[in-house]
Amino acid sequence: MSPFLDLPPLSAAQFAAIEDRVAALLHTTADVIVTQGEALLPLEAAIRGAAHPGSTALNIVTGPYGQTFGNWLRSCGAKVVDLAVPFDSAVSAEQVARALDENPGVDFVSLVHAEAATGNTNPVAEIAAVVRAHGALLMLDAVASVAAEPLLTDAWGVDLCVIGGQKAMGGPAGVSAVSVSDRAWERIAANPAAPRRSYLSLLDWKERWTDAGRTVLPHAPAQLEMLALDACLDRIEADTLASTIARHRAAAAATRAGVRALGTLVPYVHRDEHAAPVATTLRTPSGLHAAELVGRLDPALPVQPGGGPLAAGMLRVNHYGTAASLETVRSVLSALAAALPGTDSARAAVAAGEAWDATLAAL
Ligand SMILES: *Cc1c(COP(=O)(O)O)cnc(C)c1O
Repeated sequence: MSPFLDLPPLSAAQFAAIEDRVAALLHTTADVIVTQGEALLPLEAAIRGAAHPGSTALNIVTGPYGQTFGNWLRSCGAKVVDLAVPFDSAVSAEQVARALDENPGVDFVSLVHAEAATGNTNPVAEIAAVVRAHGALLMLDAVASVAAEPLLTDAWGVDLCVIGGQKAMGGPAGVSAVSVSDRAWERIAANPAAPRRSYLSLLDWKERWTDAGRTVLPHAPAQLEMLALDACLDRIEADTLASTIARHRAAAAATRAGVRALGTLVPYVHRDEHAAPVATTLRTPSGLHAAELVGRLDPALPVQPGGGPLAAGMLRVNHYGTAASLETVRSVLSALAAALPGTDSARAAVAAGEAWDATLAAL
């Protein structure tokens, strides 16, 4: 007997109710479409829906996902202005305002909120205000920030907000969601190049599902993932969203404080206010490849080398979902201390505990 098999079918009403719960999590009254695939699906769908030859996109690159978005935008025939900042800091609203002033034709802006891959986070409220004043649409990749940071989709004026379940929500990777503002629907509907009769088509979902009253699902629902998504929304509700966010912030602060006390590794993102709550990236000492260091650790710990070319000098500590705990942070610190000669595990554990408590007390 498997709890995963022979389940009763998931109804359209259940699917719609889960969409409504996601909308509440995103603080939006816009349409939310739950997409049946990993978060790259709605990210690509949003870009291909909005971009076209003749449009100009400002693509903000603060990590590897921004590079992916730029490639999709170019493949849609859009003119792309890349605003790239070093991966060890955040982009500022002033930098975005300057780029928009220099490129008055920009009608679409893509931005990543928190970057799990590089460990930084961007000031979305301020950036969104600048984008709104310019009149462009804003697409936000909030996959690594949802449930780890405040995410005020409507209050900030985010037109396309994309999330996935697999980071701070502690849920499944096989479903994701995108909220679509009225402005975004107008733009996508007016785009002759927007995908239709395609798995990437947001318009198909609008026509066949949202506008049709959400009574008949256009495709068989990904049932296990939907049930898992519902269960992780239950858990966030039981713990409260505020305390889920607080736990992630405290985990980042504790990791940074503990690592500083260890002394050999340095936080890759310099300033605490630019540090993402889901993952802390660390610079390894010169000559020590992150993969070599990871090889000395228990493989069960949520530590990995940076992606691609970053792996030479970047270690990534993931503290999201159930790993956003002081216990996990201390296990990682003590394993790092054991792997790095001359470091003091006890001091790191104390520093992490103090930072954890101070962060929770300040919220
Ligand atoms: C994790 C993440 C995604 C999802 O992509 P995966 O490569 O499947 O992990 C998208 N965007 C951001 C910013 C992420 O951190």
